[in-house]
Amino acid sequence: MIKAVLFDIGGTLIAEVTKREIYEIYDMILRGHGVNRSRKAIALAHRRMERKYLEDERVVFDNFWVRFNTDFLQDLGVDGNVAELAEAIDREWWSHAKTELCPDVLPVLSALKARGLKLGIITNGLESDIKRIFQKVGFPELFDIKVGADTFQCAKPNPTIFQFTLKKLGVNPSEALFVGDSENADYEGARKAGLKALLVERRQKLGGNNAGKISNLQELFQHL
Ligand SMILES: [Mg+2]
Repeated sequence: MIKAVLFDIGGTLIAEVTKREIYEIYDMILRGHGVNRSRKAIALAHRRMERKYLEDERVVFDNFWVRFNTDFLQDLGVDGNVAELAEAIDREWWSHAKTELCPDVLPVLSALKARGLKLGIITNGLESDIKRIFQKVGFPELFDIKVGADTFQCAKPNPTIFQFTLKKLGVNPSEALFVGDSENADYEGARKAGLKALLVERRQKLGGNNAGKISNLQELFQHL
């Protein structure tokens, strides 16, 4: 019997921010501070930072985004007060970033809550990102737990992040369902940790074998 339903955020509860949108946000903020770089240069520098900080065994440390952005700006060859600009990017980011709740989210979460299920978030963003997203979308307090990559110092698909979260909730992995949009980080990660998992494909792009896949959150009720 399922006692808890846990969700990824980006691409699952809120619209996915594409790489192109990320580069646009950097471009806008940098221009606002008098720094002009081509989208291509921004994309290449960002790709290098992603490889260094966000892939494989993700490293999490204090002031993560400011340090990420400092390195990014240095990679871009920006002169002057790089540390101050890195802080400005962090400060201004969420006023540019799209954070639209997918339309099925609130009805589904409320219905799950009404059934007495525990609800949680596990994201590879940071706790500070979760806080800003929640403020921006005006999310009602429906979640029993919200976990970022800095909460237990580990990120999806590492099974530990799922297991630690469930331990805190007092729920066994076999009694939990995880819903996310990344085949590797969410679906495979959760399954390896012993949870049931669903891959949400809002654009139905993968096709093929549909076992374990849903195209919107309403369909998760068939799997409880
Ligand atoms: Mg996602």
